[in-house]
Amino acid sequence: MLSGVNGLHELRWNPLIRQWIIVAAHRAVRPWRLTDKERVSCPFCPGAPELKDLASWDVVVLPNKYPALVPHPGSPAQYGSPLYVSREARGVSEVIVETPMHEGDFHTLTLSHVSKVMKVFKEEFEKLSRLEYIEYVALFRNKGREIGVSLSHPHSQVYALPFIPPRVASELESFKEYYGKHGRCLICDVVSHEQAVRERTVYENEGFMIILPYYAMWPYELHVYPKKHVKAISELSEEDLKLLADAIRVATATYSRLLKKDAPYIMVMHNHPSKGDYHYHFHIEFYQPYRDPEKLKYAAGIEWGYWVFTYDGVPEERVKELRKACDEILEVIGDTFGKCA
Ligand code: UDP
Ligand code: ZN
Ligand code: ZN
Ligand code: FE
Repeated sequence: MLSGVNGLHELRWNPLIRQWIIVAAHRAVRPWRLTDKERVSCPFCPGAPELKDLASWDVVVLPNKYPALVPHPGSPAQYGSPLYVSREARGVSEVIVETPMHEGDFHTLTLSHVSKVMKVFKEEFEKLSRLEYIEYVALFRNKGREIGVSLSHPHSQVYALPFIPPRVASELESFKEYYGKHGRCLICDVVSHEQAVRERTVYENEGFMIILPYYAMWPYELHVYPKKHVKAISELSEEDLKLLADAIRVATATYSRLLKKDAPYIMVMHNHPSKGDYHYHFHIEFYQPYRDPEKLKYAAGIEWGYWVFTYDGVPEERVKELRKACDEILEVIGDTFGKCA
């Protein structure tokens, strides 16, 4: 069978926590943090080998050169014990290069540019969801050294997975249970509640709301919730995508203002699975690793070893800092639709 990559490549089942692990030997050699000198060789800058055939581009989707998942993987190894279950690492790994510029963030790009990025996110979700072997399209953005990114050029990543990831599976269970009990959508209810009490809102435009949730796990976690009930980005119109772009620009600008530097963060899209029909409400989550401008919060023993999070501070207090930062940047970034608070 044709294998896209060299070395051991398979999914392994961890029977203790019942999760798939992606084993990808070839990923060990991906480039690690280009120095300023090596920058000329940034693989996502115009003129790079993968990009040089493109006349001009503003957002571009590339296959990941060191893919965690590939459409035609080799067969998994067999380990001679029913304890050790493996399966093909079948899926798709792509990189979305968001701008030809080597530096920046959503809020340093124009609203119309970020709207285009959102459109590409939507197209990726739709394209990959159609593949018969894909169960879930995980689309995320890692930013900053503190998060451990290997390349700083603004980009997001897509892992189209042959299974529903555990965190989303857990959310699906919760939506189902909540619907069973109340006959309503869990996030729709959170949105109405926060709109009424206004204790945790950071920003709101016509279509979206940014809140620091009651149930935040990271000190400055932010969730972007569509106000109308949509299950996936594919249900958003061109106008909705513009409002989403607006909310996202405000979120990243707020972080940078809060930390008074180019802020690191993890952004994840939580879409409905690619197959089936579940109760779900599309949303985006941002995890920002600092607990104050000088101190990082690390996920360590209690978090990694037990999956228990402690929250340093009080969400309803921390939200005030974010609101203030939001207020300060709104004028600066320009081209915004909503208001802070
Ligand atoms: N990459 C690529 N082409 C290259 C160099 C790197 O597609 O020429 C990929 C690499 O495999 C990695 C991604 O670009 O997955 C950069 O991702 P990021 O820094 O967000 O995090 P990582 O995946 O390295 O943890
Ligand atoms: Zn670059
Ligand atoms: Zn809903
Ligand atoms: Fe979520």
